[in-house]
Amino acid sequence: MDELFHYEAKKTKHLVRVEVTDEKITFLAVNAAAWVFEADIKDIVGCHLMKNVSLNDPYLRIFYYPFDDRRTRRRQIIVDLKPAGDKAYDDCLKIKLMILRASCGFPRDWSDYDTLKTIENLQKLIILINPKSGKGNARKTFTSKVVPLLSEANIGCDAVFTTGPNHARRLLKTMDLTVYRGIVVISGDGLLFEVINGLLEREDWETAIQVPLGIIPQGSGNGIARTLADAQNEPYHLDPVLTSTLNIIRARPKAVDLMRVLQRFPDESEKTYYAVLSVGYGLLADIDIESERLRSLGESRFTIWAVLRLIGLKTYRMKVSYLQAEPGDKGETQPQRLSPRLFRSTTEVEKPRNDELMRRTISADTNIISDPLEPFADNQIEYGDLAEDFVAADTFGPSSKYSPLTGEIPSDWVTIEGDFVLVYAVLQRFIGTDNMFAPKSKMDDGLIYLLLIRGDASRGQLFQFLTSFESGTHVDVPCCEMIPVKAFRLEPQTSEGNLTIDGEKVPTAPVQVEILPSFYRVFMR
Ligand code: ADP
Ligand code: MG
Repeated sequence: MDELFHYEAKKTKHLVRVEVTDEKITFLAVNAAAWVFEADIKDIVGCHLMKNVSLNDPYLRIFYYPFDDRRTRRRQIIVDLKPAGDKAYDDCLKIKLMILRASCGFPRDWSDYDTLKTIENLQKLIILINPKSGKGNARKTFTSKVVPLLSEANIGCDAVFTTGPNHARRLLKTMDLTVYRGIVVISGDGLLFEVINGLLEREDWETAIQVPLGIIPQGSGNGIARTLADAQNEPYHLDPVLTSTLNIIRARPKAVDLMRVLQRFPDESEKTYYAVLSVGYGLLADIDIESERLRSLGESRFTIWAVLRLIGLKTYRMKVSYLQAEPGDKGETQPQRLSPRLFRSTTEVEKPRNDELMRRTISADTNIISDPLEPFADNQIEYGDLAEDFVAADTFGPSSKYSPLTGEIPSDWVTIEGDFVLVYAVLQRFIGTDNMFAPKSKMDDGLIYLLLIRGDASRGQLFQFLTSFESGTHVDVPCCEMIPVKAFRLEPQTSEGNLTIDGEKVPTAPVQVEILPSFYRVFMR
């Protein structure tokens, strides 16, 4: 390894030797005595071979996102490597391939450039953007932050702006997924919920649910994105979009637990949902839904409504039964069924209708860094018809281990009947950006955290409970019982009160909920 390069970043210039391993790139100065610089491979987003029109003077440009000194955020550093030897092009290509292999996990034997280019082009993302989520910035985030990062990483994408509820779910139900390396949502947890439910409405659900998912937080509720950042000790608040997009680029899929919720209505019809975060009934669900009216107040709407709700406190009569997890039970994390980064479906799936998908592929060419895309114009988007009844959908998925909702409660389950202030079952550590609801939860621990507050809790305790989610200390308030379970059944004895699944209102009727351990996959670094 004797290729020499001129290293140029910010104001630093050195003549260096370059070493690439699976963990780091080392730049060793050969001129100034002891200058050495090491870049963590995980922080490298992309490496481009740059050359001018006449193909002269090629050089490498590396996009690098290290922590700042206080580790509160990451910042971009561009490193240019200009070859000093006479085989400039070959030297550049060699280093580029080494970096890509280490950072993207390409197989060792893909040594030639053309194969690499083909593979890169194959691996595009499908990105779903909800322009109405949160503060309404998802479109701008996509064009001004996500597209430039993906271009640096040489990842192409097809983009769809969702036009309303159920658009994403319907799209995922029928879309050909074989050409995608993953599905990304730029929105809140609600759109992720739709994507997962859409995937589980496919006949090829077993393969489809293995497609890695990415989430770039732009909603009013971003529990999953926060949970991911928390799990990998990444800074979040200063730049959640960067943190989340880096996960998608690095693309190491990690399995995450899911909940299946079966609901039964008085007319004996049933409906299945898959929930990524929560199932709630009573006080918190009421606040979630009723405070929607105060949406314009932003985050403080929750607190205001909570105080109002405590004044006119309601309790609800219900029957709660659950299968408690054994102490020390780590859940039953299943082995990974599929590992390849490239998703290949064996089932023929219906092609999406053309009017549903607006395709726009980012230039995945490595020679020139393309200009940022012009913003998408509204008239480029085709609007499909939105009205569709969720109930009408058939859902697939694994068969249940537990007796049906109509059957007897199994003898090893605990049953409590009485008045409750609330029941709130959560899957992930964070159910909102600053809401650490289940401090002990791990993404794949195979456990649902069932929180119960009975009807005799005092207003003082409840106030304390409602004001301590951010720190996760609500679990220490005396009225709060937090029970790790594998499954539970909730049977409201009244039609009053809100029942929510992932924060969305559903009819108030009995539900049975079970854990599906390590069931879907998300992109991590
Ligand atoms: P937020 O956290 O802001 O509510 P979500 O991602 O949870 O953001 O979005 C909420 C819901 O908005 C989604 O579940 C989806 O059904 C719906 N939705 C998607 N696209 C649109 C749109 N263009 N207009 C209105 N609602 C939409
Ligand atoms: Mg869990």
